[in-house]
Amino acid sequence: MTEPAAQQSVFHGVSAATRAFVERNHRLHIGGDWHDAHDGARLEVFDPATGVAVASVPAAQASDVDRAVAAARDAFEDGEWAHMPPVARERLLLQLADAMEAHADELAEIESLDQGKAVGMARHLDLTMAVDFVRYMAGWATKIDGRTVTPSVPYLPDQTFTGWTRKEPVGVVGAIIPWNFPLLMAAWKIAPALATGCTVVLKPAEETPLTALRFAELIESVGTPAGVVNVVTGEGHAAGAALSGHPGVDKIAFTGSTEVGKRIGKAAVENMTRVSLELGGKSPVIVLDDMDPRAAAQGAAEAIFLNHGQVCTAGSRLYVSQRHYDDVVDGLAGIARGMRLGSGRDPEAQMGPLVSRAQQQRVTDYIASGREQGARIAAGGGAGEGGGYYVEPTILADTNHQMRVVREEIFGPVLTVMPYDDLDDAARLANDSPYGLGASVWSNDLSRVHRLIPKIRAGTVWVNCHNVLDPALPLGGFKQSGIGRELGREVVDLYTETKTVLMSV
Ligand code: NAP
Ligand code: MG
Repeated sequence: MTEPAAQQSVFHGVSAATRAFVERNHRLHIGGDWHDAHDGARLEVFDPATGVAVASVPAAQASDVDRAVAAARDAFEDGEWAHMPPVARERLLLQLADAMEAHADELAEIESLDQGKAVGMARHLDLTMAVDFVRYMAGWATKIDGRTVTPSVPYLPDQTFTGWTRKEPVGVVGAIIPWNFPLLMAAWKIAPALATGCTVVLKPAEETPLTALRFAELIESVGTPAGVVNVVTGEGHAAGAALSGHPGVDKIAFTGSTEVGKRIGKAAVENMTRVSLELGGKSPVIVLDDMDPRAAAQGAAEAIFLNHGQVCTAGSRLYVSQRHYDDVVDGLAGIARGMRLGSGRDPEAQMGPLVSRAQQQRVTDYIASGREQGARIAAGGGAGEGGGYYVEPTILADTNHQMRVVREEIFGPVLTVMPYDDLDDAARLANDSPYGLGASVWSNDLSRVHRLIPKIRAGTVWVNCHNVLDPALPLGGFKQSGIGRELGREVVDLYTETKTVLMSV
């Protein structure tokens, strides 16, 4: 049997297992079973390198979300999961990490086909981080504890009391995630939920639903009881809104844009649902004048171009001391011009396509607005050729804080560059943004670095690196970049309620 050339080229170089998974009839995962959406509606899934539809998934509606929440509630309240001791949850998470590792190549290929990123990057960054994080959270399952206190209760001087706190699972978690690191984001929500004894309904981004469905299978394959993890694919305005406004959900864990995050926060508060929001960013990169301009250009290029700029902490505003400004811009322009665009399955390619046609359009519109507002295009500026969603790595020099390209999150491979005068000027410019997610400082002048760190209003400050994350270090935003901290010991607080017990003895 012959097949269309487009379909052949999409699957060129991927394993039979990956292809078989992608082409199967995808369904919602609810209560340990697989279901179509109530009304049979489906969404197409595209390969960003070619624009070819490779799969379709159910488009869940409110009634499907109701079923998933009910399944999660049942699993939370009785049965095996509710009675599982922490050590058994630890073992389950360790087995899950092993299963992810065993299927890491396949998961990386699925991610590449769905999201556009290079298979190598998906394998060595997304998968490695996801597996490590699941193991890190496995360790927490047995270490969640409260405090014991001896109360004084001064108005009852003749009585004796003892008091303590318990950390209890918050309950049913509604997780809503974006498309930039689909499997990793799913792991960031599901692993803490499992470690703390919660149950989950996950809604992946409509552009990238596939690895979440494969992840659900792996979660089940290690013996997780039915209903503990449910996956509803669908659109934000339908499935996402139904989940975030659902009275049966105890906590919403959201990662995505600030605009949608605000809407979700309002819907959650209506039911007093706990909510954590990991939102957008416009992270500054500050190069001090002791840096070698070539090394600075290399570091800044990595800070913006990782994952084609589709990173919440992408270093998208670069501030360079006047002294090295021209050299750093030239260095960056050379790096950007030398990058080869290509499919995520092309090992020679240095940058893949963006996630969707809409994102490609959004990013090229931003580049046009930068041009109109007077930015100098030092490199790139165009969309790539062919059917894929490519955008050239772009350096916008001589920008300023009145421009939209400096003020707004572009979420693509577009760097804005500006000079600054002194350290105070650099800190002022870095903070002149509604966002406060990440920032990096590049210098070996210790005392100036230490003076700068407390001045920067951001959840993470990197020094001589950028976008480097570790499971043990919290991640989250100041200002409009969010509420709450994921990763690290801080994440345990997001998935637990503290109960105070006071006993008269
Ligand atoms: P998005 O448009 O905000 O979407 C995120 C998720 O919310 C998707 O699953 C989306 O569904 C869903 N959604 C949309 N409208 C909704 C509604 N009314 N109610 C409930 N859910 C709704 O963000 P994105 O474009 O996918 O991702 C990019 C953004 O994520 C960037 O701003 C980036 O900075 C941020 N991000 C932040 C972090 C962090 O840790 N701080 C990490 C990664 C990404 P659909 O897919 O159907 O639209
Ligand atoms: Mg896709």
